[in-house]
This record gives sequence, structure tokens and C-alpha cells, in this order.
Amino acid sequence: MGYATLICQNHSAGNAVSKTHPGEPGDRAVKPNYWVTAGSRAVVSVSQRRSITMSWGKLLEPDLFLGDSILSLTPEIVKEYDLKGLVLDVDETLVPLREIQVSEYLRQWVEQIRPVATLWLVSNNISEARIGGIARSLNLPYITGAAKPSRRKLRQAVTGMNLPVEKVAMVGDRLFTDVLAGNRLGMFTILVEPMVEPGEIMQTKHPVRSLEVWLSQILGASLAQKK
Ligand SMILES: [Mg+2]
Repeated sequence: MGYATLICQNHSAGNAVSKTHPGEPGDRAVKPNYWVTAGSRAVVSVSQRRSITMSWGKLLEPDLFLGDSILSLTPEIVKEYDLKGLVLDVDETLVPLREIQVSEYLRQWVEQIRPVATLWLVSNNISEARIGGIARSLNLPYITGAAKPSRRKLRQAVTGMNLPVEKVAMVGDRLFTDVLAGNRLGMFTILVEPMVEPGEIMQTKHPVRSLEVWLSQILGASLAQKK
């Protein structure tokens, strides 16, 4: 099996345009290595497999990994990256899962950031009572049931901000929902450590998140912390 060269005529320009198509007999100059899955007919070249892995790695890679909770995201950092809006995940990004009220620390953080960036809450949680209550206590617009990594509700928030998508950051604690959704839409993405209750140890409390971090690194994502 090899690649064949197909010559197509570009009628408008009158020039010949060369395109390569895999799986056609003829040209034996290019011989890719093939990876064949056991028990199936799927055939993927090594270079294609590498490309798929790299794509997933990039989609799971945050532009910024704070290595701390959202409270360490300062107005100076927001300005440094020229961000004008922040879409914030709620559960365990702003508020621990079992808490229903925002902390005074978070309230002060919101008031520090508000002058430099437009803020929206976008949560996968479908509870209007929980997410709506948190949003109202912070006086912020919100969207529930976002189904991240779907882009649909993130796009709605960015449109509501009336900002270019690259000027808006998706800020969240999870790679396979928050970071993946933000990267898919072309937003700046910021991974934060989960907001835990005092005395809790993050690694034992969040095995799924730890698994996500491990898997994303296998797929090629870099999670270097901001210095
Ligand atoms: Mg979360």
C-alpha cells in the first residue's frame, strides 16, 4: 500500500495542482508505517497516531496553571495576559462542593477582579438553587447545565460579554471539562487547584481530577506552574 499522486487541473488558473491520496496504488516513493489495531480493520499511520495524541495533548493543556486556588489569580495576572473577561466554573473552583455560601475571601477576590475583567459563572451543575444562589450573592450573571466540554454555553457567555473570544479566559479546576471546553472554543484557559474545605487534602479528595492530570500528561499536555 502506498500513496498515489493525483494530478488535478485547476481550470481557473490553468495550472496543475498536485494532491496526495492514501491507499491508492502507483506512487511507492512514500511508505508510511502503519499501526493496525488487533482484531479490527482500522489502519492508522504512526504519524497520524502521533498527530492525534498531540492534538489531544494541546486541547487538554491550560495556557496557565496557577498551582493554587483561584484566589491567587490577581488583577496583575489578568492584565499581564491582556484578558478582559473571565468565565468561571463554580463547583470546587469558587466554592467547595458541600458549601452553599461563598467565603468572604472569594467575595473580596471578586471585587478585586471586577474592575479589570467582566465575570460570568458557567457551571455544569443543573441546580438553579445552588448556582443561582451563589451567582446572586456575588451579583454575577450565570449559566447552569453547561455540559462542558461542550462549547455552546461558553460561547453564549462570551457573546454576552461582547468580547473577542481570545480576550476571555475559561477558569476552572478540571481539565476534561473546563480546560477542554475553553481550548475548543479558542479561549485562554486557566487551571486552578480545587477549592477545598479547610483541613482537606486535595489528592485524596479528588481522585478523578488526579486521574485527569495523569491522563492529560500521558497525552502530551504540559502542566508547568506559573512561577
Ligand atoms: Mg469544577
